[in-house]
Amino acid sequence: MRECVSVHVGQAGVQMGNAIWELFCLEHQINKDGRPAAKVDMAAPFTCDTVLNTFFQETAKDKLVPRAIFVDLEPSVIDPIRTGPFKNLFNRSWLLTGSEDAANNFARGFRTVGAEKMGQLVDKIRQLAESSNSLQGFIVYHSFGGGTGSGLTALLLEELAAEFDRKSKYQFSVYPAPTVSTSVVEPYNALLTTHFSLANSNCGFLVDNEAIYDICRKKLDIDHPHYTNLNQLVSQIVSSMTASMRCGGALNVDLCEFQTNLVPFPRIHFPLVSYAPIVSQECPFHQNITTQDITAACFAPDHQLVKCNQSSGKYMACCMLYRGDVVPSDVNDAIARVKTLHSVQFVNWCPTGFKVGINCQPPTRIPGADFAKVNRALCILCNTTAIVEAWERLSPKFSIMYAKKAFVHWFLGEGMEESEFLDAQDDMYTLEADYRLLNGSENEMEDEI
Ligand code: GDP
Repeated sequence: MRECVSVHVGQAGVQMGNAIWELFCLEHQINKDGRPAAKVDMAAPFTCDTVLNTFFQETAKDKLVPRAIFVDLEPSVIDPIRTGPFKNLFNRSWLLTGSEDAANNFARGFRTVGAEKMGQLVDKIRQLAESSNSLQGFIVYHSFGGGTGSGLTALLLEELAAEFDRKSKYQFSVYPAPTVSTSVVEPYNALLTTHFSLANSNCGFLVDNEAIYDICRKKLDIDHPHYTNLNQLVSQIVSSMTASMRCGGALNVDLCEFQTNLVPFPRIHFPLVSYAPIVSQECPFHQNITTQDITAACFAPDHQLVKCNQSSGKYMACCMLYRGDVVPSDVNDAIARVKTLHSVQFVNWCPTGFKVGINCQPPTRIPGADFAKVNRALCILCNTTAIVEAWERLSPKFSIMYAKKAFVHWFLGEGMEESEFLDAQDDMYTLEADYRLLNGSENEMEDEI
């Protein structure tokens, strides 16, 4: 399997990373210090060397080190990794911190404070790339709304595009939630990062925290979910998305292969992610959830990671990542039923529609997590025009503030120019128009996109 480098940027990126690597270690039977667990079952698909190599690097001392870089412009989020239970897992020289944060300001992450850190970050990435036999690509975890997550990520993606043009670049991003926001300038940060990274990333998987909060409350009975709860759920989803890269199998479909099937036009690269089952320990039926159940659940709104009305859009492609005790005939039956749903409409220029992968490893439960251990799960990645709702929610917020030039001086003070705001706004209008066109008059589409 070909190597994949993960880069965790800013608070959200780093904290999601903590949960993801904890889960990867459990799945691969690796202890917190990076040593294989005492009784490794070498027959288990997640433990064979070729597969481990994708996300872990083996050191001379028989340790496995995540191919992961953590970067933040201030130390408070990464310091706990340096002293916490996983302090011996990560390569310490790949934990990068600065002393001055981005203060919620894209421009500080993109132009000033972040730009100063970029040389060091790119050096570490180069080191990781050079130590790989055949690097497949990068996954960047970050938020759209934070200053570091937005600005530093946009700059990083530019650098990666310049130096690693032919490698895949994926984003896993916390997208601003519809009604809750942690900063006033979130719409600026989010739109600017979208503009600067649209051309440089191959595929972006979005999660909005409000959608995950709702899932935690309604499905897992957590009254007041914390980031830890959210991140544990995110880690299960990332695990499903990357299982094919970390585990062999007959119907195993690699993420790169999914990308080919998912992205019909370079800019239309934001699939809607859904996951099922999400059931609490208390649910008495969690062992009996069928392939049919999880397939149907993934097409219901309460399992989506971004709030939008799926039935208002049209599907361009749909990748189904099954894992665990799943047989192809059950999958075929389940998909046949989905095709009869009125809410699942495909564009008329994509006749095949579904791409299926089955990975034999069931999900692993993180000890102490709120969800139950289940035998099978499904993560779907749907390229649907319904996701335009997320952009349409964001751009008016940007426009209202920008019409008054409110808060813009903070960005200009860090070296940005007004034209960059206008370009970002135009780019967003174009993206929304592209989606609307795909949803509507498809005959005109070929000339326009
Ligand atoms: P940055 O460090 O400057 O990039 O700022 P943040 O990463 O804190 O970005 C703010 C956004 O990220 C807000 O939408 C927060 O709700 C979200 N966020 C912050 N920490 C976490 C986290 O651990 N998990 C999740 N899911 N979202 C987070």
